Amino acid sequence: MIFVENLYKTYGHDSAATHALKGVDLEVKAGEFAAIMGRSGSGKSTLLHILGLLDVPNSGSVLIDRKDVLKLTEGQKARFRLAELGYVFQEYSLLPEMTILENVYIPAVCLGSENGYRKRAAELLEIVGLGERLKHYPNEISGGEQQRVSIARALINRPKILFADEPTASLDIASATVVLELFKKLNKEMGQTILMVTHEPEDEKHVDRVIWLKDGIIDKDIKSNINL
Ligand code: ADP
Repeated sequence: MIFVENLYKTYGHDSAATHALKGVDLEVKAGEFAAIMGRSGSGKSTLLHILGLLDVPNSGSVLIDRKDVLKLTEGQKARFRLAELGYVFQEYSLLPEMTILENVYIPAVCLGSENGYRKRAAELLEIVGLGERLKHYPNEISGGEQQRVSIARALINRPKILFADEPTASLDIASATVVLELFKKLNKEMGQTILMVTHEPEDEKHVDRVIWLKDGIIDKDIKSNINL
């Protein structure tokens, strides 16, 4: 699903240069639920942003579903992100003036879907446990619930890969557990491929694989079959 070779990313120049990624090779297979972990500044977000086509590396290659995504034009990349990739960030970024149902189906409208998206949005909200709250507005639900809406929104266009960047960092422990259990369910029951950056040691037990980054390189790559 994702195939990365020799990825380098440097921010800034000369004496102000920060070498965030220093030769990352990585393969993520369809159906995996993998976490990227490591200390702050180890390059986790940089790697996730490059794989999610939100940033570009200085060198190296990134294939997603055998497509050389670094060769896409900006327009093709925007379309690829919308149609093939889903994102969940620490902040939920819901539109306050829209209901949660509308928030979930907006990416389908942006993609030009003509029908069926309202029903799918309602089904996804049911899956994330908010089937009774379709007409509510974001400020009428809790932070954990808003994050579950953002997960439903990320899935509306049936992404090949769901990218999550510190998805539980703003949540209390109980809400964070609900979100992690939800990711696990989406992975196990729907086969959703998920790549998640986290610094919560707790999250390790929910995933199949932990890719440990240290100073811009992969230090350890630990696959467990406990959850398989
Ligand atoms: P992590 O997600 O593991 O905390 P990051 O990928 O955010 O690590 O950062 C890796 C390194 O790159 C850090 O030293 C960070 O300060 C630096 N960095 C990240 N983003 C930028 C940026 N936009 N400009 C300059 N340096 C950056």
